[in-house]
Order: sequence, then C-alpha cells, then structure tokens
Amino acid sequence: MYQALYRKYRSRTFDELAGQDIVTTVLKKQAAQNRVSHAYLFCGTRGTGKTSSAKILAKAVNCENPSDGNPCNECGNCRSIDNGTAIDVLEIDAASNNRVADVRELIDEVVYPPSVLKKRVYIIDEVHMLSDSAFNALLKTLEEPPEYVLFILATTELNALPPTIISRCMRFDFKRIDPEILSGIVLNVAEKENIKINTDASMLIARLADGSARDALSLLDACSAGRNDNTEITLFDIQQQLGITNNDIIINLFEAISKKNIALSLDYLNQVHKSSKDLNVFLVDLISFVRDLLIVKSIPSGSADYVKEHFFFSSFAFDKLNKLITAFTTETLLYFSSVLEESLNYISRFTVNKKTFFELTIIKLCDITLSESPKALLARISELEKKFGDGQATPIINKRIEKSSAEPDIIKKKETVQEEPLAVFPEVLEELKPHQDIYPFIKMSRMYVSGNDAVLYCDKLGINILSTKENKKLIEDALRKISKQELSLVFREKNTTSEEPHDLLDEIII
Ligand SMILES: [Zn+2]
Repeated sequence: MYQALYRKYRSRTFDELAGQDIVTTVLKKQAAQNRVSHAYLFCGTRGTGKTSSAKILAKAVNCENPSDGNPCNECGNCRSIDNGTAIDVLEIDAASNNRVADVRELIDEVVYPPSVLKKRVYIIDEVHMLSDSAFNALLKTLEEPPEYVLFILATTELNALPPTIISRCMRFDFKRIDPEILSGIVLNVAEKENIKINTDASMLIARLADGSARDALSLLDACSAGRNDNTEITLFDIQQQLGITNNDIIINLFEAISKKNIALSLDYLNQVHKSSKDLNVFLVDLISFVRDLLIVKSIPSGSADYVKEHFFFSSFAFDKLNKLITAFTTETLLYFSSVLEESLNYISRFTVNKKTFFELTIIKLCDITLSESPKALLARISELEKKFGDGQATPIINKRIEKSSAEPDIIKKKETVQEEPLAVFPEVLEELKPHQDIYPFIKMSRMYVSGNDAVLYCDKLGINILSTKENKKLIEDALRKISKQELSLVFREKNTTSEEPHDLLDEIII
C-alpha cells in the first residue's frame, strides 16, 4: 500500500525534527535529565511538528535505551508506540471526542498505573474543540495528575483555550518553518525517493506550503505522482500542475496597470479567467507579488541574493522587477495591497460575480482616482510628487490656466441634436436582468435617443464595464429586440457631483 510521504518521513527523533530548534532542544534536555513536566501544551499552525513532537516525547519518556534525550526507535516500547499498539499511549482527537463523557472515560483510567510502559501518555489533539464541561472535567486531573501520567495537548487555536488550561501546562509555540528549511526537507525526501527536482521547484513548494512540513511533502507527493518518466520536476511543472499563474502574466498585468491601461489589464485578467484558474488563488498571487515589490523597493540595491532567496517568484529576472518598481511609489503599492486584500475578503465570502468584482478591482488599481480612501489619496499625492521630481509634469496651476482658456467653449457647446429619454428603457432593463454582472450598472444609468444613437449615461466605472465588446453587444441586442430599431450604443459619462459612483464601488468591493 502506498504510504504518503509525510507519514513515511515523519521525524522520529528530536534531532530529526527540523525547524523547531528551541522546542526540540528544551524537550530533549528535559527527557535526558528525566525532568519531564506532567502536562505540555503544543500550539502552532498545522503541519509544524506538534504531533510528531508529541510522539517523540511519548517514546523518549518510555524508551528502554534513550540516547541524549532521543528515543532509540528500536526497543519494544518505541516500536509499540510507533505502530500504535501501545495501550498506555492514548491519542485522542478532540474534534470528534469533545463531550464531557469522553473526557470522563479518559480520566477514570488515570487512577490506574500504566500496564506495560513507564508512563501513560495522553495526546489530545485539537484540544480547543473540547466542550466547556469537558474542559472542566479535564482541569481537575491536570491540576494533580498521578506521577505516571503525561498529558500532551496540541492546538492550532491557542486563543480558543480557557486560560486555566493554558496556565497548567508547559507551553511550547511551534513556529512556521522557514522556506529554506522546508525546501531542504523536500530535496532530502526527493533524493531518498529517487524523485528528481530542482531547487527552484523545491523553493516554490516550500513557499506554497507556508511553513508546514506536512503540506510541503504532500505537495511533493502531488507533483511527483503520475510522472511516468523520471525527468526532473521544474518550476514550470509545478506551476502547471497546481494551477499557479505564470509569472509573465503577472508582470505583464502590472506593466499595463503602471500605464493605466484598463483595457489591456482586463484582457490579462480574461486570459487568466479563461485558463480556468481559480480567481481567489490568482488574487492571492497578486497580493504576494505586490508584497514582493514592496520588499524590493524597501531594501537597498545589492541585496539581490536576499530577494532571490525570499521571493515567491524565484525565477524572476531581477532587472525586470527593478523596472517595474520604479513605476510605482511605495504609497501606490500600499494602496494596491489594501485594494487587493479588500477584494480577497469580499470574493472569498461571496461566490457570485467573482469576475465582475475582480474587474472592478483591476480598474481600481489602474485608476487611483476612483477610490477616495486615505490610502488612495496618499498614493495620488505621491505620484504627483514623483512626476514633479521627474520633471514629467508642470505645476497644476499652469495647467489650470491653459485649460480655463480652452474649456468654456467645449462646455458651452450644446448638443445640436435633441436627446430624448428612451421610452422603452424599463423593458430593456427587464431584458438585461438575467445578466447580473452588468445589470446593476445599467440600472444606475439613463438612456437617451439622439438620432440613430442610443446614448447611455453612466459613471466612469459603468462605462468601463459596459463598454467591453461582449457587454456592448448584449445591450445592443436587447435594444434592438425591444425598440425594433437599429440604434448604435454610445457611452457618455454621467455629469454628477454626487458621491454615488464611489459609494457603489466601495460597497461592491469591500
Ligand atoms: Zn526505545
């Protein structure tokens, strides 16, 4: 039977357990000096070694030939714990045994000494899932357990635990494992399994695993499964297999954003959408990218090595990044980051119209003036400052003077053709109602007929959304069907001083 890599290569001694040096050093020392506490609390995110450490500790206190605090993994006691047959080591998953009756059952046994091993060990996983009454029952035993009992509680959610439980345990915090260490684990296991993989690819796996050794090895499992040839796994293979966005498209997208080219930016988004990539995942990629841009911008030049090591996009050409970061100010990047985080927050809560919201997000990135958040204003100011610094812009006051001499004519010029409200607009609206991604924008618009034109007045954002080729055709088709006339659709920005468009935008994105 195939055994998952993370099970097969689970650490069996404190020395093998990578990435938690403080925890393993202390536990090893306590085991070696026979000064083990009666209750431990292991907390930290998933896959950081809590359960492995609990098992190692259970073996270490029961081992017949321990060496420097590490279990031997050879004696009968070690082996029975490893294969799960030791009746004195009880593993309880609190997620499924959270009732007070489950805890009572456990506590009733506490009074009996272990039948075979030196210590009876209770490993309670996901301990935060216990009910209040179960916690209370456990508390009494935790206060004064018999000498031969060892409690090891593990949790991913420390703040869900009653303080009374926390204070009665010796607590160890398991941190996320560094990407370099994870990458090393991946390379090591790959070598033992005769899987060929290069360092770029293992670094990407390490980044994706986000500090979890279990996830890193599961990813290696997933990426190596189904390969019939024994060729090297590359960065590209992993991107393909796990549906990670090609770096190029993200760079291209941000280049388009830096030029404020909305159409091109939306086109890149379309490409990603068509490739059936999950938009949530893409959004997370963009957030990582902006964060990376911020890092590159904040660290002095010459730290290319640092960046290469810590980057999510390790294969990036450094000069390409450098070019991109000069296009944005730090304030703009911070603004991007907040817009993207807000969208992620929204998109992960609501499943409908994901793409539309994503489009709005991209538009917000291209056009900072659409947002009135303080971050957006700061970004606008910093961009202006940058332009002045670069000599790209003349002071605003001059522009105003130039404009004011030319503008009145344009403003005063009246439409020569009479515009009349389109009488059948409510019916057109009704016709478009099934298209929920554009309907809200149409609903906010007004439509007039002027000669052979149907003039749709909407806000800037609405124009951006409705004027795409696809959407324009949809509206024209509905118009033709209802009005029985050949009208060509033109867009005009609604002349509004109200805050309506911004409010709507914020409502949708936040
Ligand atoms: Zn042993």
